[in-house]
Amino acid sequence: MLSREKSQAVFKRARKVLAQGVSSNFRYWGPDETPVLARGKGVKVWDADGNEFIDYRLGWGPIILGHADERVNQAVHEAIEQGTTFAATTELEVEVAEKIVDMIPGMEMLRFTNTGTEATMHSLRVARAYTGREKLIKFEGQYHGMYDYVLFSTASSSIGAMGARRSPVPVQAGSGIPRKIRDYVITLPFNDFEAVERVIRDQHGDIAALMIEPTLGNAAGLEPLPGFLEHLRQLCDDYGIVMIFDEVKTGFRLANGGAREAFGVIPDISAYAKSLGNGYPVAAFGGKRDIIKIIGSGSVSHGGTFGANGMSMAAAKTVLDILTAGPVLDDLARRGQRLKSGVGEILSEAGIPHQLTGHPNMQAFLITEKTIKDYRGYAHHDAKLYAAIMDNLYQLNVWMEADAREPWFLCEAHTDAVIDETLNKFEDAVKAAKP
Ligand code: PMP
Repeated sequence: MLSREKSQAVFKRARKVLAQGVSSNFRYWGPDETPVLARGKGVKVWDADGNEFIDYRLGWGPIILGHADERVNQAVHEAIEQGTTFAATTELEVEVAEKIVDMIPGMEMLRFTNTGTEATMHSLRVARAYTGREKLIKFEGQYHGMYDYVLFSTASSSIGAMGARRSPVPVQAGSGIPRKIRDYVITLPFNDFEAVERVIRDQHGDIAALMIEPTLGNAAGLEPLPGFLEHLRQLCDDYGIVMIFDEVKTGFRLANGGAREAFGVIPDISAYAKSLGNGYPVAAFGGKRDIIKIIGSGSVSHGGTFGANGMSMAAAKTVLDILTAGPVLDDLARRGQRLKSGVGEILSEAGIPHQLTGHPNMQAFLITEKTIKDYRGYAHHDAKLYAAIMDNLYQLNVWMEADAREPWFLCEAHTDAVIDETLNKFEDAVKAAKP
């Protein structure tokens, strides 16, 4: 067993002053298991006891280059010497916006903000303002952040409570959300062509937006069936609904142009965060000029003290410069594919039925005999065996979430040698966990 005396001592103090000892509910793993981290460099992280891990959690996705990347840190150091927060436009901010417009197909105009939550929240308000309608379609198992309108049928919700596939029940994620908010939300199963079509035909006069993670970044990276995103695009076009891609996980990760580029479908608005800053807090939302410019009239609220602050912009500019200087994400996908294939071979050899899911840069696997294509299908996955494998892997110093809903993230610092080491340890972890 890895030592955890120091981590446990810090966590004990944490529980006195932080609710549950954490700053995000998802960071709590249990009274004696919750990790306490000390530092990270490249592909490695160290906990408070000095245990070293190869990191595939990567802070839930933002680390696209590696922890404490020197190129990014150097740029941030230089920027903070100039002051960071002016409540005014800066040239650096304009440069980053220009770069994003260049990189993302169909991106014409945007605004910066600080978190993924804000980016999707403002996208929704813009869609409502633009259409004059109020309802939102979202998909089961998708997480779009921590505000009331999207906290329904997320990947934390009980599948059993979601009702029949033909008439899904939006499941509220916890207390504190006004009861009437539910009236504004329609939840649907991912990859269900017919369900979306039926709802849109019936209710289009009320539906402002359809928000979707193009791949289920919070449910094992499940991917859209061929034609699904195109089908949604067509329905949104036919019925004047604003199509919003939540690219908080996929943006600057699947491809330089994110899921828009990877799947060749252009939404009206998309939201970005995570990889844009390699760990510094920065987010953006934007899309078609005709829609986004509605903010500019001043008649739609958007603001934020820390939006486009110097630290975030310096980090973002460096990340984008690195991504466009060479085929960073393509190279990553090649190494990610090696990992994915290796994982598949090891599971097959062990006789464990499985489904490899997700894009190589944000991948997962499910232990299942049935093909899973939506969050409801997750009920067929053997979560216990998965957790046992991941616990073993953790003891072998490879760090992954014990829950398959959170994908394995790769970064530039995951070299071929790191992938080989991971696969060797994965094989041992599977052998030790096999029932
Ligand atoms: N959308 C998606 C797809 C996410 O995965 C997340 C965070 N995991 C968010 C939105 C919210 O982002 P943040 O935590 O930066 O508010």
